[in-house]
Amino acid sequence: MAFTLHGIPVSRGIVIGRVHLLASAALEVPHYVMVPSEIESEVSRLDEAVAHVVNELYQLQSELPASAPAEFAALVDLHRLILQDPLLSEEPARLIRERRYNAEWALTTQLQAVVEQFEEMDDEYIASRRADVEQVVERVLKVLTGSAHSLSAVADEADAARRNGSGDDFEPMIVIAHDIAPADMLQFKKKVFAGFATDLGSLTAHTAILAKSLDIPAVVGLGQASRLLRQDECVIVDGEAGVLIVDPSPIVLDEYRLRKRDIELANEKLKRLARMQTRTLDDQSIELYANIELPDDCDFANAVGATGIGLFRTEFLFMTRDSMPNEDEQFEAYRRVVTAMTGRPVTIRTLDIGADKTPDAARLAFGSDIFNTTNPALGLRAIRFCLAEPQMFLVQLRAILRATAFGPVKLLIPMIAHPQEVDAALVLIATAKGQLDARGIAYDRHMPVGGMIEIPAAALSLGIFAKRLDFFSIGTNDLIQYTLAIDRTDNAVAHLYDPLHPAVLQLIAQTITTANRLGVPVSVCGEMAGDPKLARLLLGLGLRQFSMHPAQLLAVKYEVLRSDIVACETMAKKILAAGEPDRIRVLVDRMRAA
Ligand code: PEP
Ligand code: MG
Repeated sequence: MAFTLHGIPVSRGIVIGRVHLLASAALEVPHYVMVPSEIESEVSRLDEAVAHVVNELYQLQSELPASAPAEFAALVDLHRLILQDPLLSEEPARLIRERRYNAEWALTTQLQAVVEQFEEMDDEYIASRRADVEQVVERVLKVLTGSAHSLSAVADEADAARRNGSGDDFEPMIVIAHDIAPADMLQFKKKVFAGFATDLGSLTAHTAILAKSLDIPAVVGLGQASRLLRQDECVIVDGEAGVLIVDPSPIVLDEYRLRKRDIELANEKLKRLARMQTRTLDDQSIELYANIELPDDCDFANAVGATGIGLFRTEFLFMTRDSMPNEDEQFEAYRRVVTAMTGRPVTIRTLDIGADKTPDAARLAFGSDIFNTTNPALGLRAIRFCLAEPQMFLVQLRAILRATAFGPVKLLIPMIAHPQEVDAALVLIATAKGQLDARGIAYDRHMPVGGMIEIPAAALSLGIFAKRLDFFSIGTNDLIQYTLAIDRTDNAVAHLYDPLHPAVLQLIAQTITTANRLGVPVSVCGEMAGDPKLARLLLGLGLRQFSMHPAQLLAVKYEVLRSDIVACETMAKKILAAGEPDRIRVLVDRMRAA
């Protein structure tokens, strides 16, 4: 039966394909009843999975570096003990034998019972161990559900199928999931999935940002999609309208095929702009930079003619691995980007981990507790975390400095709020330089250092940062989150996340005006810079450097080429004075249409 689900549009385009349901291990395990003859082999399957995880934990412990905190070894021990407790090692087997549940079902049923017991306890310490039990069960479930359920394995299988001659006949595969972590989204970079849709999510969570970078149609915040859809069902993802159409009728399919073709033609036309200079109608030069997550993304940035890299989110190098990359590994990644950009500037942002970007490697190296705080977005994130772990930070600083020997590099510090954070970072940069000098390694002694303006406090006290830094980059994603007190990853409040809120616009306008007055270069690298609807507004506010995902660059360029700065400035003034959000929206729409 055909039906339509409405969510939040994340990335442009339309795709028609088959559903691949991705089960999150803990959320949706298979449920089936065993026939009596299978029961003992099902118990063995569970026992083997538990034994596998116990071994994994022993191995993890034996490989711990001497520098790992003592608490970490204790935590691994604790996880092993939890797993060997009869509550988890024996009770699920009883459920398999007595109720004939399959192993995953038995394990999650028992988990539920254990969690309920935890909830009844007053003791805070014991209550906090609930997360440990859940993590341990998650590990066993991952082993039980096996590679068939891991996104990476599905991507590999699909990739192999495509290589083995399925060629153009390969039917687009659309991932439907409850939620996809930013680290898992990296698997999409293999380009085997043609679109995705999730129950949870919001426009500027990092999962959605990655979807934009891949240029595949995506819709998030659909509520129940992963429960309502079936494997292999035909669906249309309309990334423009934020709609998922399930089992469409032939008429709807034809209509969407036509629209898809129109979009493809428009994209083909945009490609012709790639080699053109970016100048406004009144001949002002505008710089359009690319945001990247991984070195391979430079190909896309080059293909669309980016001025350089305006934001390299280096934390993605730390995802999908169990250990923090060492200095040489990081240096190699940074050097690859610098070399790929052949003399154009590369802005490397230092680690921005915490909140929705907490790599397993960081949890393993520093313990989960520091990241599992009540308000992780307000916690030890980005520069705060780096300053708390100076040895780790120094590794990254040395790796970035070493890359400066291969081309122009700027270093960008995320989430600054206090001048002393910048001072401390500058001291560590000087220390890293001293360490390289001692090793006789060449680097650019004048590497510019900038700061992300993404906390209102920094925007409102720009002068104290201008004294210390060489450039600014406005991170509108976080600036909106922190100005409006909206968790950017929480779809329950996603409707309140508003780039055109008058307070947000005032902060952006003030930052650009002050930076221009002080002669400090300023760019915008948040999602607002990549929204063609907002290009004229930002030009009118005085912005001359934009940084966005390569997928958006040509659409923004098209807007810039047909804009007149003086007209944009006049409209921007009206918009700033308009006050009422509805009026602002009308004026922004009018500005684009003009
Ligand atoms: C931002 O906050 O706007 C930004 C560019 O950084 P991130 O999205 O990685 O937090
Ligand atoms: Mg940010």
